[in-house]
Amino acid sequence: MRGLVLLAALVAAAAGTETFVGHQVLRIIPTSDEELQKVQELQDLEELQLDFWLAPRGLGHPVDVRVPFPSLQPLKAHLEANGVSYSIMIEDVQELLDQEQMEMLRGRRQMPVTTNTFNYASYHTLDEIYTFMDLLVAENPNLVSKLEIGRSTENRPLYVLKFSKGGTNRPAVWIDTGIHSREWVTQASGVWFAKQIVLDHENDEGLASVLDKMDIFLEIVTNPDGFAFTQTQNRMWRKTRSKQSGSACIGVDPNRNWDAGFGGPGASGNPCSETYHGPYANSEPEVKAIVDFVKNHGNIKAFVSIHSYSQLLLYPYGYTRTPVPDQKELHEVSAKAVAALSSLYGTKYKYGSIITTIYQASGGTIDWTYNQGIKYSFTFELRDTGRYGFLLPAKQIVPTAQETWLALKVIMLHARDHLN
Ligand SMILES: [Zn+2]
Repeated sequence: MRGLVLLAALVAAAAGTETFVGHQVLRIIPTSDEELQKVQELQDLEELQLDFWLAPRGLGHPVDVRVPFPSLQPLKAHLEANGVSYSIMIEDVQELLDQEQMEMLRGRRQMPVTTNTFNYASYHTLDEIYTFMDLLVAENPNLVSKLEIGRSTENRPLYVLKFSKGGTNRPAVWIDTGIHSREWVTQASGVWFAKQIVLDHENDEGLASVLDKMDIFLEIVTNPDGFAFTQTQNRMWRKTRSKQSGSACIGVDPNRNWDAGFGGPGASGNPCSETYHGPYANSEPEVKAIVDFVKNHGNIKAFVSIHSYSQLLLYPYGYTRTPVPDQKELHEVSAKAVAALSSLYGTKYKYGSIITTIYQASGGTIDWTYNQGIKYSFTFELRDTGRYGFLLPAKQIVPTAQETWLALKVIMLHARDHLN
């Protein structure tokens, strides 16, 4: 055990990976307007190098922030001087990363020969996920195919798995995971969904009936440059990896880069911000590839973009307070989906529109897809609520994917029943 921990640390160090020794994740729950104001001001203190895992949302909502070791004492003193209380969610971020690395090394020992021997309860590298996709296609040529819808900034292929029983240009469901690269439980869940579709496509009455009428498209690694970067350089990387002219900072928030309220409130014009919207809408090839795919396909009926963490099911809008015309129906579908999700392990979810449930965010994925006429546009924020945040232990991958799948099936069945 100790040896493996040491080995994991050595592997990380040898790979030149950024370390997070002594970094803590603090939780602040603002209970007054003054406290909320103080917490919001922290976002502008660039010298502290704070990383907001959960940005301020309003009174009573937790704010989670990763604090580098050198900033810990100054920040804590600042908070205490201003009477803002906090708790420590993660004592030492690197400890969790070492455990994660150890689990990955363990999971990697047997090279999968089939998707039946693939370890779904482990996190995997980009190459391992690519191998998984090829195995799945090879094993199920009549159901699964792999499309390349474009290339990333660093020229990685943008692969989408297509599940289809035949027909041409059938109505379709789109699911993407991993558009924010550090949200590892999402890509891992995407892998599990892919296998589950294969296992259930005949035996599960609901899924079989969906596939009788519709195709399913699944993009597992939606931000491959970011994902590779989380594994080789910096586990906490969220954005794409594009260069920005006039700035030393890299990358765009691919969930602020869509042409829906682009550049409005809830996105940053600062290339160094984690919510930088980019120089113009669709500037990121990872976003543009999906935009082109959706437009060319022209018959996508449900679009689900999966993030972590917070345990939320959200529908549009994020960029405006004006409710969508389908608010009532989307709210009802969300309620049903969340009930199905919670039925498995009792995991509690909240649901509602983005702007009323979290905060105003402009240029988001599902606002654009909804405005394109895809009524059933949803975003998930998967487990957990902050105990581990983005560093969810691998043993929670399968339960997370299983419960989420129940909610996805509710959405797909509803779309199947409302195809016109
Ligand atoms: Zn996200």
